[in-house]
Amino acid sequence: MEEQARIKPSKLKLNITWLYPREMSTYGDRGNVLTLYKRCLWRGIEAEVEEIGIGKNLKKDWTDIYFFGGGQDVAQTLVAQDLLGDKKKILKEEAEEGKVILGICGGYQLSGIYYRDFEGKEIEGLGILDVATRAGSKRMMGNLVVETQFLEEKLVGFENHSGKTKLGQNAKALGKVVVGSGNNGGDKTEGAIQNNVYGCYLHGPVLPKNPAFADYLLHQALLKKYGETELTFLNDSTELAAHEVALDRAHKTH
Ligand code: GLN
Repeated sequence: MEEQARIKPSKLKLNITWLYPREMSTYGDRGNVLTLYKRCLWRGIEAEVEEIGIGKNLKKDWTDIYFFGGGQDVAQTLVAQDLLGDKKKILKEEAEEGKVILGICGGYQLSGIYYRDFEGKEIEGLGILDVATRAGSKRMMGNLVVETQFLEEKLVGFENHSGKTKLGQNAKALGKVVVGSGNNGGDKTEGAIQNNVYGCYLHGPVLPKNPAFADYLLHQALLKKYGETELTFLNDSTELAAHEVALDRAHKTH
């Protein structure tokens, strides 16, 4: 049966939960939260950001978009311990209900089944992405360009990780590596998607220079909350100029 068009409030609102802003915001990943927030306000959509640090409880059902940034191994271990228990239970339920969740690098790794560090210590992940990561001896660093099947524009950014991530059966790749290493430097996959959970190694931060990806996530969150909602046009000339510079630089350095 066709889904009834839901009555939308006069003022749309998206609630963004930023997981571990102090511990997991390596390489400016905080810029992703700012991008989602601003791209709502520029369109007259209300937005609110809640920061969830270690020891702070999640509010189930409040959040429309979760953001989980990158961090060093030490921070990852700390955060992983805090995630187990209530937070993991809530985030699994939210992921299964189709909430938008974006994890970058360390946040991506902890969204998987486990992260095994270089000493072989295994850190339990959230299990909201069917991926597993093992730290390697070589760091994968540099510009990263990814071709996806759901965006016209390629994604550009940079990567800096030793973790090698492999996809399980229930996750599909975010895209194909055009320049760089991606998930593991071997199978040409980059990132992962499962339900509305997205993970990748793209720092930059990824969303300011890839406005189409930012809007894709916003659209998914609005669709989930209010039903089909068209995003009004934004003049992304500055963002797209930065995108072209990054794309050009990536091709020149590989
Ligand atoms: N500690 C992880 C690794 O090196 C993630 C690093 C990061 O978030 N940039 O693979």
